[in-house]
Amino acid sequence: MTDEIQRLLRDDLRGRSPYGAPQLDVAVRLNTNENSYPLPGEVAASIEKALSGVVRDLNRYPDRDAVELRRDLANYLGHDLDVANLWAANGSNEILQQLLQAFAGPGRTALGFTPAYSMHPLISASTGTAWVDGHREADFGLSAERAVDQVTRHRPDVVFLCSPNNPTGTALGLDVVEAVLEAGTGLVVVDEAYAEFARDGVPSALRLLGGNPRLVVTRTMSKAFGFAGARLGYLAADAAVVDALQLVRLPYHLSSLTQAAARAALGHAPTLLSTVAAIKEQRDRVVTELTRLGLAVAPSDANFVLFGSLADSKAVWRSLVDRGVLIRDVGLDGWLRVTAGTPDETTAFLEALTAVLKENP
Ligand SMILES: *Cc1c(COP(=O)(O)O)cnc(C)c1O
Repeated sequence: MTDEIQRLLRDDLRGRSPYGAPQLDVAVRLNTNENSYPLPGEVAASIEKALSGVVRDLNRYPDRDAVELRRDLANYLGHDLDVANLWAANGSNEILQQLLQAFAGPGRTALGFTPAYSMHPLISASTGTAWVDGHREADFGLSAERAVDQVTRHRPDVVFLCSPNNPTGTALGLDVVEAVLEAGTGLVVVDEAYAEFARDGVPSALRLLGGNPRLVVTRTMSKAFGFAGARLGYLAADAAVVDALQLVRLPYHLSSLTQAAARAALGHAPTLLSTVAAIKEQRDRVVTELTRLGLAVAPSDANFVLFGSLADSKAVWRSLVDRGVLIRDVGLDGWLRVTAGTPDETTAFLEALTAVLKENP
């Protein structure tokens, strides 16, 4: 950036770095928790048909309230939710931004429990919200007691709970969500981007929505649905929260192409989600194999695995890239995160890592 533009920039943004997972052209890309499986032919055909159905009407603005799409999302989630409880945007990142624009911003505070999703502090910064870096236990878990202690101390306007948590893969018990709701007076946002990958018996915070008007659960079609390129995130909350977001959303933020594509995809939800079981199998395989290699491995309810006890994690990351395997350095010294891909991708990663560890133990 030139000095002149630096001078013009908002004071609180000066010197900050943008979000930037490397987009490298390598054979095996396991760094952004995408779903490795392309859309099945029948789903792709439905989406193409739905898109051509709206192309001629692109002279008109889309349905500003995306009512039909929100109804489809409510039906997908169940839990007695209806269209008034759902809101959708261009990725759950835009949902998070709208939540902070409406409920946080200058003079207000958001709290998250680090290490967690790096966009929570970044979107807080871009909306002028003060960020409080809360802490997890050493094993990346978060007990109700520890969470309550930090909420009581900082009295944040917004609390982020990420479950299953990115980058650790750990899920939270609903006791933690309930305790945080009870301990504070602000909005509690449970980011469930990876909910569909959770192991059996891990409950969703959707269950707690009835009777908790300060609770918001965010979801996305980017991960389990394999729909990252379409940009469709959403939330479920009390209808009053959805009403409040109307004050900050841009008019017609969701294009008719996006709405049509997402509705067509949701019409095939079981087919799209059929890859989830295969991905969970590869995730569990990665956990087993990395444990066998003597590495520390965080238990995962997501489509990725955080592993550690690496003497030089940056060198391991680099050597894997040299072998055509891109995984993620999440900025936790000694740890790296790998997405569970197809069986072949997972094999390529495990073989490359085994070789790299032999070279630099
Ligand atoms: C990937 C991810 C998201 C999804 O973002 P989109 O904007 O919906 O693609 C949200 N939260 C977490 C924790 C994630 O890892």
